[in-house]
Amino acid sequence: AKKHKVTVVGSGNWGSTIAKIVAENTKEHPDFFEEDVQMWVYEEEVSISKNSKHFDSSVGEAPQKLTTIINKYHENVKYLPNIALPKNVVANASVVDAVKGSSILVFNLPHQFIGRISKQLEGNILPFARGVSCIKGVNVTSSEISLFSEWIGEGLGIYCGALSGANIANEIAAEKWSETTIAYDPPVIDSRAATPTGPSPSSSQINLTLTITSADEEQRDARGRVSKARLRPVPSDYPPLDHAIFKTLFHRPYFHVRMVSDVAGVSLGGALKNIVALAAGFVEGRGWGDNAKAAVMRVGLLEMVKFGKEFFGHSVHAGTFTEESCGVADLITSCSGGRNFRCAKMAVERGLSVDEVEKTELNGQKLQGTSTAKEVNSFLKTRGREDEYPLFKAVLDILEGRKTVDDIPDLVAQADS
Ligand code: NAD
Ligand code: 13P
Repeated sequence: AKKHKVTVVGSGNWGSTIAKIVAENTKEHPDFFEEDVQMWVYEEEVSISKNSKHFDSSVGEAPQKLTTIINKYHENVKYLPNIALPKNVVANASVVDAVKGSSILVFNLPHQFIGRISKQLEGNILPFARGVSCIKGVNVTSSEISLFSEWIGEGLGIYCGALSGANIANEIAAEKWSETTIAYDPPVIDSRAATPTGPSPSSSQINLTLTITSADEEQRDARGRVSKARLRPVPSDYPPLDHAIFKTLFHRPYFHVRMVSDVAGVSLGGALKNIVALAAGFVEGRGWGDNAKAAVMRVGLLEMVKFGKEFFGHSVHAGTFTEESCGVADLITSCSGGRNFRCAKMAVERGLSVDEVEKTELNGQKLQGTSTAKEVNSFLKTRGREDEYPLFKAVLDILEGRKTVDDIPDLVAQADS
């Protein structure tokens, strides 16, 4: 029987942590998975300081390729320092090479970069591959909004689920207990259908496929999934790609997985809480207390649920926001110690913009909340709905200097009255 090969597309703070988790599990479950896990790295030059345990006097502090450093020292010294990665995590600077032959693709990079990477993958992945998106953000183009799982799935002609939870990467990398939620709900296809083994369709072939699909097999169905017509079955000599196998791939003693089917709820929670986390950082930076932060979280959660119902009502379950790690639990952890929260707090304390703090304090890590605030508000504005989401709007207005933190209480109260 064949085994699944796994690639993690991305290697930042969370990407490297997820690669560690997955590699621990592929090693423990050789019946299902190939042991080596490919990790695509956005190549850059990094120098190792004299004080580091990895300092090599023959190289000195001269910049070296990040992939070389990861494969030599089994540590991502830039994005996940002081955490030993399993030796079966293989850093690869070529995304096309990293996904070659992989039947499980884990997308884990800041949402602003997925478009370009996904384009490079078209025609270069196994046609029956399945994806899991760990990206926290939404894809907004003028008046349209979609989930990255849907968008990746459509672009590549595969099914893509979503992983999101109360998951501050550094804690999980240090193996401190946390929970997560994985949503996986592919359309049921005829598994007896012939399984093509060639490359996946190129974009021109994809367009052709779309023009010939029938009305009830449109590009994506009401739940945002790739159409049955385009989805290729997983060959029967591979272990089935079902809830059980994804749980086996991601669950660790310190990382507890709950499997669900609500991809929209899981993805939206992770995206929208980043806007609320900025607001929590603003009020804390202003010197207000836990009560103010709780107020922001209350209003923020209401807007998250309302947004889900209004724009993804056909698929989202309100319960996902309140019952799963990807909802209220992620909101709480992100408003306590997430990067969006911390940078927003520092920005107010120091009288700087959040963008400036991101540049000076995060050593190349990227915030998702600032761009998500812009994207979500521009989507709401196009539809004339922005006043219905006063906290989301206030966050953008503060980021862009039209309002101050002191305006938050009144802005939020107006919406309640
Ligand atoms: P990060 O912010 O730590 O790192 C930035 C990454 O972007 C690096 O790998 C860098 O090499 C890469 N990069 C920089 N410029 C690039 C370019 N032009 N093209 C492609 N890549 C480029 O990233 P992260 O924390 O791993 O975040 C990935 C996703 O995971 C985000 O959507 C985030 O919201 C989500 N997430 C993060 C955490 C966390 O605690 N870090 C937890 C849960 C979810
Ligand atoms: P930040 O990107 O704000 O650090 O949030 C991390 C996260 O998503 C925790 O679940």
